Amino acid sequence: VGKEDAEYLVSLVRSVPGFPKEGIIFRDFMPVIADPRGLQILIAAIAETLPVAPEQFDAVAGLESRGFLFGPILAAQLGKGFIAVRKAGKLPPETIGESYDLEYGTASVEIETSAVAHGERVLIVDDLIATGGTAKAAADLIEKAGGKVAGFSFVMRLNGLDGIDKLGDVPVTSLISMP
Ligand code: AMP
Repeated sequence: VGKEDAEYLVSLVRSVPGFPKEGIIFRDFMPVIADPRGLQILIAAIAETLPVAPEQFDAVAGLESRGFLFGPILAAQLGKGFIAVRKAGKLPPETIGESYDLEYGTASVEIETSAVAHGERVLIVDDLIATGGTAKAAADLIEKAGGKVAGFSFVMRLNGLDGIDKLGDVPVTSLISMP
């Protein structure tokens, strides 16, 4: 996408200081999705900046909840299927899960045991990477299920956190970098 479109995309992100708690600036990308031109630019920009060529992966996996909002649109455009990586406790059996550490306590992500075909190459997408804990857990889960992580695409990346380093050797792209 061109410079003007890129700037328009960035202008739609709403920043909310102090949410969900003191010291955090919440980067809300819902206004991007709500805007007709914003949504089109978003999908085009992600498709143009994929970390690996579309022939290098078979499916798109989105992280609940905001990865569900654009992951399937991207997947459809690329002619791929979509895998929903859910938060724990939402899916009926049989599921497999992966836990990760939060600032206080732990969280888990889950998929159905049959969600990933053996050897399936998966592109993981989400709206934002902060510490990278969620994306890393999703990647470990895909691998545990027999898949192979081909790359990661994020809309936003938070600077000053080592989120992307946590993801290892797999290629990563993000559209917007934010403090
Ligand atoms: P992390 O596991 O720390 O990389 O956090 C990533 C997940 O938390 C993503 O699913 C984001 O949607 C959400 N998240 C973390 N920090 C923020 C933030 N500052 N603004 C909006 N969403 C965030």
